Amino acid sequence: MSFNSLGLSDALLKAISKKGYSTPSPIQQKAIPPILEGKDVLASAQTGTGKTAGFTLPILQLLSQGQHLRQRPIRALILTPTRELAAQVYANIKEYSEFLDLRSAVIFGGVNQNPQVNQLRQGVDVLVATPGRLIDLQNQGLISLSKVEVLVLDEADRMLDMGFLRDIERIIKVLPSKRQNLMFSATFSKDIKKLAMGILHNPVHVEATPENTTVDAIIQKVYPVAKEKKTELIIKLISEGNWKQILVFTRTKQGANKLTESMISAGIRAAAIHGNKGQGARTKALAGFKDGSLTALVATDIAARGLDIPLLPHVVNFELPNIPEDYVHRIGRTGRAGASGEAISLFSPDETTFLRDIEKLVGMKLPVENIKGFEPDPNASTEPIKQGQGRQQRNSTPKKPKTDNANRSSTNSFGPRRPNQNNDRRSNR
Ligand code: AMP
Repeated sequence: MSFNSLGLSDALLKAISKKGYSTPSPIQQKAIPPILEGKDVLASAQTGTGKTAGFTLPILQLLSQGQHLRQRPIRALILTPTRELAAQVYANIKEYSEFLDLRSAVIFGGVNQNPQVNQLRQGVDVLVATPGRLIDLQNQGLISLSKVEVLVLDEADRMLDMGFLRDIERIIKVLPSKRQNLMFSATFSKDIKKLAMGILHNPVHVEATPENTTVDAIIQKVYPVAKEKKTELIIKLISEGNWKQILVFTRTKQGANKLTESMISAGIRAAAIHGNKGQGARTKALAGFKDGSLTALVATDIAARGLDIPLLPHVVNFELPNIPEDYVHRIGRTGRAGASGEAISLFSPDETTFLRDIEKLVGMKLPVENIKGFEPDPNASTEPIKQGQGRQQRNSTPKKPKTDNANRSSTNSFGPRRPNQNNDRRSNR
């Protein structure tokens, strides 16, 4: 199948060809036609499948065919869970709309709102936003959503995980009731299904498993290791394997910082990326990782959402995630674009429950390899780590943690948010 046969306009085909895409990815083949027909779509797809083009191309086409109003009210609203994803989606839209008379903008928290407001004042057809900043600007009367024709919830599962349900509901209330709705999610929990049922009308279901997240395409290994030897082992793996680009996951922000410091002391160029890092530091770390000046990027699950890092050869779970779905997200970052990759989990005895949950979810036993000199004490306690608390905090009184939701503005005046079911599990990431 070619992009030509999907019914996209010449202006879009020109932009696609400029990007160097020759064939639409499976999710694009499946999602573009129903979106062009104006249908609601519920898509199962994660980052790396080409999902962004899957919804932005048809939206741009619909908007460019639609009636142009002089003031350019916002006609398409794309909500994303993180600033990084918002910025990436926006960058894609800019490229795809290069030959169209459409204007787009991105708004997110953590930066001065004035440039965003100025841009909105000039008229914007497509707005990409994180929920917090959108609500802030809406409350200040600086944004009108009364002409929105298409709503996209990108990475809807992440939005729920990050506690944005209430915000999404508030935003939807101020949208016109007659509109097209598109929802993208990598996982489909009960909550996601409920959200979808409340928002979508007779949706077309489309699904695309990225080539690389099939179990066969990723070499998965579990290395049992004494907890206190994990740092030594990962440094050994990187140094002796001469690894050039490795994404490492920790459960907590503190854990990410500590590991990064140890790596740097061992001569590995590393940076941490998590919710306590300012936007500048996050962007710099990601850029360094992409251009090869950094070898290791140490991330928490939430910070890693939606990062478009192509062709990652190694993903290491320094700590197993306590939410099994996160394992699937993490390993989906290796071997992207069809290449094979390796996902290694450093597993200590106290993570036995997490491993069991993961194996249950992926429906297979993960292959275990022992590394001489690093094996855990066979008598070590398998008592699970207390959920939601990092190792550093186990014996201390838990403080109200600063979460990755910190990218939401504190001036949100829509009232208190309902506690999220996963907040406890995610509290210090
Ligand atoms: P996404 O899943 O939207 O984050 O896209 C993942 C990566 O695939 C991005 O770098 C896109 O630029 C790229 N991409 C999207 N569609 C295609 C395509 N049809 N052919 C090749 N690359 C693509």
